[in-house]
Amino acid sequence: MNEKALYHLSYGLFVLSCHEEGKDGGCIVNTAMQAANVPVQMSVCVSKANYTAEMIQKTGRFTLSVLHEGVPFSLFERFGFQTGREVDKWEGLSGKARDGQGIYYLTEAANAYISCRVTKEIDLGSHLMFIAEIAESEVLCEKPSMTYAYYFARVKPAPKAEKGAWVCKICGYVYDEEKEGIPFADLPEDWVCPLCKHPKSDFERR
Ligand code: FE
Repeated sequence: MNEKALYHLSYGLFVLSCHEEGKDGGCIVNTAMQAANVPVQMSVCVSKANYTAEMIQKTGRFTLSVLHEGVPFSLFERFGFQTGREVDKWEGLSGKARDGQGIYYLTEAANAYISCRVTKEIDLGSHLMFIAEIAESEVLCEKPSMTYAYYFARVKPAPKAEKGAWVCKICGYVYDEEKEGIPFADLPEDWVCPLCKHPKSDFERR
């Protein structure tokens, strides 16, 4: 298998959000899509390492905010590089509202939102796939949707890493072999980036 072939797939970027008894969760995903049109169904895959996956499993509900090209890097840091187990990612964020299911969506960073009810859950190993019907959806503006390629080319700052360091291509996290005491090559295959939870294969050597 040449994994580089997978880099040629194109993706959108979304904030996947959920709500459970006074708690609000959310994370960045690139795995949402319309799965069928009669009846209209969505699919979304979430890493099991994400607290959001647990919350959706429990509540059977989620909302997708479709990010547009005007979204700053700080929004990716807020939703992608910290865990909902430790912080409320929605705290202090302006530009949010609750949909009919009581779940937050982004009113300024998104060009649309889609509020969903889970009908099927499929265990894919590293990820859970949720199939869902749409409870509610709305267009918020006409700015172009952000793609994964646009994020890499225009939004993510170049990481400041010394030569020879291992850097996460997704979020810019630098793995310091000396500080960690374990050479990068010796990390287990299921090791994930502590910031964005992407796998070892998304790291590259500077
Ligand atoms: Fe990362």
